[in-house]
Amino acid sequence: MHTCKTGYNNDSWIGHGQGYTVSGGLQWLSDAKPTVPWFHVTCNRSNLPKHSFIFWLRSHNRLLTKDRLKRFGIFHDEVCYLCVVDDETHTHLFYDCQYSSRCCMMMQNILGVRLRPELLQQWIKSSRGRSRLQQQIVGACHVALVYAIWEARNHARHHDSVVLPRLQVKNVINRVIQRFWATNTTRLSDKEIIWIEKVKCQL
Ligand SMILES: [Zn+2]
Repeated sequence: MHTCKTGYNNDSWIGHGQGYTVSGGLQWLSDAKPTVPWFHVTCNRSNLPKHSFIFWLRSHNRLLTKDRLKRFGIFHDEVCYLCVVDDETHTHLFYDCQYSSRCCMMMQNILGVRLRPELLQQWIKSSRGRSRLQQQIVGACHVALVYAIWEARNHARHHDSVVLPRLQVKNVINRVIQRFWATNTTRLSDKEIIWIEKVKCQL
């Protein structure tokens, strides 16, 4: 199980109420740790490193959206660059924005997967009724779409124009499939080949 854990609080070791010792550190490490739910989504050979990095930043709410910039004292306005309707926050940009919703819907139609983004990790983890190829491609497309939305946001910011959702989605799936073929070392089943060809026909 992949985990993360914080051993220090304000530069003070938190393990068992004593100063740090090797044995105390090992004991602390062996305790139950919280699972990082998105770990298996980022560890996918079909992910490009830059996609995984932006996905990681998004997962930690670290991207410099307008609400965060405002907290740092950098402020222009709060309106989302992509929809120009609501305020730009992480939640808005990746879940509620009309632009990202359209991208998500188009991607799901092409991949033949219908589910809300918050259920995706559960879907990828479950092998029921789907192949490893589908899990890998859908997971990598999800990570790449987060990157593509951030890329479209930055393009709109610098060029005052919004890339069509259809183009972003097709680029995302094309990039993922190319990456998959470049890294795949396993033989695909007939069912998997039919599925991936069906996806490619819609691009
Ligand atoms: Zn928006």
